[in-house]
Amino acid sequence: MENLIALEKKVCAENYAPLPVVLHSGAGVWLTDIHGKRYLDMMSAYSATSFGHSHPRLVAALTAQAQTLAVTSRAYYTDRLGPFLQRLCEMTGMARALPMNTGAEAVETALKAARKWAYQVKGVTPERAQIIVCAGNFAGRTTTIVGFSSEAQYRQGFGPFAPGFVSVPFGDAAALEAAITPDTAAFLVEPVQGEAGIIVPPDGYLAQCRAICSRHNVLLICDEVQTGLCRTGRLLACQHEGVQPDGLILGKALGGGLLPVSAFLARPDVMGVFRPGDHGSTFGGNPLACAVGHAALDLLEEENLAARAERMGALLLGRLRRLRYPAIREVRGKGLLIGMELDSTHISAREFCERLMYFGVLSKDTHGTVVRLAPPLVISEQEIDIAVAAVAAVLDEFDMAA
Ligand code: PLP
Repeated sequence: MENLIALEKKVCAENYAPLPVVLHSGAGVWLTDIHGKRYLDMMSAYSATSFGHSHPRLVAALTAQAQTLAVTSRAYYTDRLGPFLQRLCEMTGMARALPMNTGAEAVETALKAARKWAYQVKGVTPERAQIIVCAGNFAGRTTTIVGFSSEAQYRQGFGPFAPGFVSVPFGDAAALEAAITPDTAAFLVEPVQGEAGIIVPPDGYLAQCRAICSRHNVLLICDEVQTGLCRTGRLLACQHEGVQPDGLILGKALGGGLLPVSAFLARPDVMGVFRPGDHGSTFGGNPLACAVGHAALDLLEEENLAARAERMGALLLGRLRRLRYPAIREVRGKGLLIGMELDSTHISAREFCERLMYFGVLSKDTHGTVVRLAPPLVISEQEIDIAVAAVAAVLDEFDMAA
């Protein structure tokens, strides 16, 4: 194990700080390391493996399509792209979609669409368009995106950054309205901030943002790369407040945990700004991605994963909240996107995750004090009990040591 860790450190850029476990295989909610030790996956690859690892239906779709036609580029039509996007649009209530691969690419697509819409449709003076974002946002790692991050480390050393972004506090609808000018093209928001530490805004926030954006002819673009596709107990997190966005960004679970598949979806006048040559991606919308994405959407419905995420999320949240330890400051979340905020004077989130790992549960710290608990949506009640017991075991062990 030490050899493989040393090798990875030697040949791979150290842009992550992985937990000291070397994984070899996965099935459902379980991962196995190279020594055969099993771990309950409470992280699901930052919400990408919502269906669990190697779901047989998705692997079958992947294999069949790989043996038929995998990658063509968008230089040609295929028999896969239209049906996949039709399903995606019908399920989300959006008019049209533009397929990409990673979440960050789909966010970049949304930013380009919003700016061009501002000039062509809204009538903003050329080069003046502004996009409002929230403090604490996370939308990926491209230079444009880190340029509007409020996290110093994400920006440090990577400037100069693209202009045209304004930041407002998350959860404060009045601040959004105050920041809008005639040059505002769009408001980009995560319904629940994931990477910021699972921050749930006040009830009614998104609905208020919807009303404000409509009133000022500003596009409401929901970044549901992490919260979308049933993670929070609804197909889309914005549906908790009956909100239909003008632009929607999906990724992660759209690839079924097998491939990077993302999309920007929008209403007709927004997507209509793209002309041939304006935007693209060699791999975006390839038949393999479409086959897996289509099967993933089917599974969401057939396995009723929204209801399952809501039920299992309530169970997990309730059981974690019943744990009374001084090291826990707060447990918060929606559906199966849950964060446990620790008191850093007791234990760091990293240390907590390392201890959890020894008890056979994998999670990951975010922002030093938050332990993320976001398992595959197919997790069972019994497996939730296993996770909660491991959390309690770490807290017991730590309490004794203190
Ligand atoms: N948007 C949100 C809300 C995310 O949480 C993430 C990744 O965590 C991204 C965008 C970027 O996705 P990717 O890492 O696939 O580029």
